[in-house]
Amino acid sequence: MKYKAYSVHNFRKIPQIENLPEEEKESIEISGNVFPFKVNNYVIDELIDWENFKTDPIFRLTFPQKEMLEEEDYEKMKAALNSNLDRMELKEVADSIRMKLNPHPAGQMEMNVPEVDGEKLPGIQHKYDQTVLFFPSSGQTCHSYCTFCFRWAQFVGLDGLKFAMRETEGLVRYLEEHHEVTDLLFTGGDPMIMSFKVFKQYIDPFLDPNNKTNIQTIRIGTKSLGFWPYKFLTDRDAQDFLDLFKEIVDSGINLTIMAHFNHINELKTPAVKEAVNKLIEIGVQIRTQSPLIKGINDDADMWARMWREQVNMGMIPYYMFVERDTGARHYFEVPLEKTWEIFQQAYQQVSGICRTVRGPSMSCTPGKVQILGVEDIQMNGQKEKVFVLQMLQGRNPDWVARPFFAKYDPNASWMDDLKPAFGDKFFFDDEMEAFEKEALAV
Ligand SMILES: *Cc1c(COP(=O)(O)O)cnc(C)c1O
Repeated sequence: MKYKAYSVHNFRKIPQIENLPEEEKESIEISGNVFPFKVNNYVIDELIDWENFKTDPIFRLTFPQKEMLEEEDYEKMKAALNSNLDRMELKEVADSIRMKLNPHPAGQMEMNVPEVDGEKLPGIQHKYDQTVLFFPSSGQTCHSYCTFCFRWAQFVGLDGLKFAMRETEGLVRYLEEHHEVTDLLFTGGDPMIMSFKVFKQYIDPFLDPNNKTNIQTIRIGTKSLGFWPYKFLTDRDAQDFLDLFKEIVDSGINLTIMAHFNHINELKTPAVKEAVNKLIEIGVQIRTQSPLIKGINDDADMWARMWREQVNMGMIPYYMFVERDTGARHYFEVPLEKTWEIFQQAYQQVSGICRTVRGPSMSCTPGKVQILGVEDIQMNGQKEKVFVLQMLQGRNPDWVARPFFAKYDPNASWMDDLKPAFGDKFFFDDEMEAFEKEALAV
């Protein structure tokens, strides 16, 4: 299968789009000038049900929609597009709208960039002891873009947002000095967008038996199984990738694909089934994750069916995330209480084999905060309705797996909306403040 991608500049040429009402095309064009927009022929031809495109989860996952923008911003972008502005002027209008959409959430820019010999390593984030995130510079795009993506800002060229690093040298030196790090997570974008030659360069140092890092697991965060399974089937370098993966596994390193699947429809094609089989056959583990997104997968039964299907295919459900506080969040967000209800209703329907999944989890500045539920609790003579929470990961490992409480708020949809219950601070607030001060001082 030959890869063909469309963007805001040529999407009108997609055969299935030509038949849509002009109003629909206009809405894609206007929102697609603010948000990243790229969709490929596999998504168009094999995943989207065009008879019901309006409600189709994969259409909503890949085509920008009018309601992703506030009405005022939509009209502003529309006026700009109708007034013969040049590319730079159009970008200025789009950027002014983008800046209102919290383009870099959870302190990613300032707080998690490590140093070697006093020099910052900008393609690396090290937040939790055991795991380093690596953003290889040539893996910072995707086979198709997701409308809800929290990394959206780096695809639209907002200044300074592109974490990237051309060389693995700094990475390897850092890992040699940090033996607490057992996991290296290649992320992006999508590392599976890289050509084999480039990808191999990043992996080679870890295949050298004399390397002095303590890397035991290499993870690859990718949407390729969902959006372009031909990466492992018919792409020119498909076999090279499979061979390299086997070499990694045979060297004793655990290789895990962190596969991003948002909807069970992404599991239905012969291509994805075959790609999953090929990976599992050579000993690659596949773990799955997705945020809960309104209008795309806010359906407990679908999650239960999806987890079961993943397990049937040999994959391991791993995370359900809460949609982050960035981009078109007003359009995609689900309140925390509802999110937890969907998680619970789905979790109740599956056997223990599927319950490797953890969530719903918010990746916020202090850590990964899991919503355990909503309860009435009496403490020190005070009775309150609260959210019960715990951290799955913490900036300080001592914070992990310690239950804490936030005041119940039916409208809360992110950690920032939550207020401490039974007191005026969360247990980690003082330490967090100290971390933030330190980061700003650097
Ligand atoms: C989620 C995450 C990781 C990986 O956490 P695990 O619980 O080991 O999957 C690492 N770094 C950051 C910044 C993360 O958000």
